[in-house]
Amino acid sequence: MPNSDLWPTVKDLLRARLAADDFDVWFAPLTARATSGQLTLAAPSRVYADYIRDHFLPLLQDLASQAAVAPITVALVVEADGVQPSPSSQRGTPLNPRYTFASFVPGPSNQFARAAAQSVAENPGRAYNPLFLYGGSGLGKTHLLHAIGNEILSRNPRTHIRYVPTENFVNELINSIRLQRMAQFRDAYRSIHVLLLDDIHILAGKERTQEEFFHTFNALHEAGHQIVLTSDTSPATIQGLEERLRTRFVWGLVADIQPPDLETKCAIIREKAHAEGFDLPDDVVLFIARRVRENVRELEGYLNRVIVYCSLTGQVPNLDTARNALTPLLPQERHATPGDIIRFVAHHYGVKVADLKGRDNRRSVAFPRQVAMYLVREILALSYPEIGKLFAKHHSTVMYSVETISEERRSNPSLDATLTTFVEHFR
Ligand code: ADP
Ligand code: MG
Repeated sequence: MPNSDLWPTVKDLLRARLAADDFDVWFAPLTARATSGQLTLAAPSRVYADYIRDHFLPLLQDLASQAAVAPITVALVVEADGVQPSPSSQRGTPLNPRYTFASFVPGPSNQFARAAAQSVAENPGRAYNPLFLYGGSGLGKTHLLHAIGNEILSRNPRTHIRYVPTENFVNELINSIRLQRMAQFRDAYRSIHVLLLDDIHILAGKERTQEEFFHTFNALHEAGHQIVLTSDTSPATIQGLEERLRTRFVWGLVADIQPPDLETKCAIIREKAHAEGFDLPDDVVLFIARRVRENVRELEGYLNRVIVYCSLTGQVPNLDTARNALTPLLPQERHATPGDIIRFVAHHYGVKVADLKGRDNRRSVAFPRQVAMYLVREILALSYPEIGKLFAKHHSTVMYSVETISEERRSNPSLDATLTTFVEHFR
């Protein structure tokens, strides 16, 4: 194995052996130099080096020798007097190079957050500080956070950036308290130029961590260093958060990410499929987009499944293969009742359920009534007399209504699209 591959391989072995927190806290920050027979690891500080030597040296020797298939001596040095630090001076959890602004599909639901993130990336410490991004799970918060980091690094590779899942912040703090190394913890955090702290809502109720973070925040903010935070809810609604943190979180800019609309979902699917070298027909894109309510992560899961299914079975992606690929993932048939459908239609057209069942024949009511009859027939396949009973109408009226809507649907693409959405909603 080339010397340069040794440390990455050892890291993989370590990762498999250790709890994720231990790995992130102790090994992710190390830099390495391998020469024949020796692996030199540089830790950011003396305490780090000592701790690793005391706790992990035999394991490291073992894994390194195993990886190199030769005896390896592992040495630990402190960065300043050992090997050069990595050029980007990145520490901790690395940035995901795939999460960039270029790969982030814009849409009305995310344009505010995206624009805010972009201006922070162009002007760290000066545009908005802190930037607070919030939104539901799987809507792109982590993606934007990495995009900010990647963009800043591409402009200035020496910026000291740290991306930290809040969970790691909590664990590092706990370890530092346990090892009586708070001074080092504080130094490490206060020298960061851009702190990207993901999922800050998990600080809820953690008083000691909030206390420490309060001081970290103040030190960075006073120094004009950029802080970006993400959360699954707005600062106002994070439960169990100290008031003084809540006020600080809104000092800069608070931007929300909303669930993507159908068009944005389709654009994301096209973009991701394209990145995988797949061209999906529009009806398949639409089919996948409609299966997922709002979570983009889920959308990706569905898309991947279709891609894998088509690759494995050697079939082309079309509606049938997409349906087959996704069947096991789709929610169990929900059994819509005629009442559900009638209420849904009434709500959509802004009329009362009683009107749909009444005798008013003005178009504003008669048209939604025909649509409701049509949908009950289409979705539940009830007989005309059965539908007649629901609406207190003769079965010939129902038949006429269903035919009218079928015909209109064929010639009116906008009605067709609406009805497709309705039908999908109940399937
Ligand atoms: P969150 O942190 O809000 O839970 P993530 O940032 O992890 O969500 O996003 C989940 C997945 O969806 C990621 O793979 C991300 O790349 C993708 N994603 C979300 N929004 C977009 C978007 N607008 N364009 C492209 N990919 C997106
Ligand atoms: Mg996230």
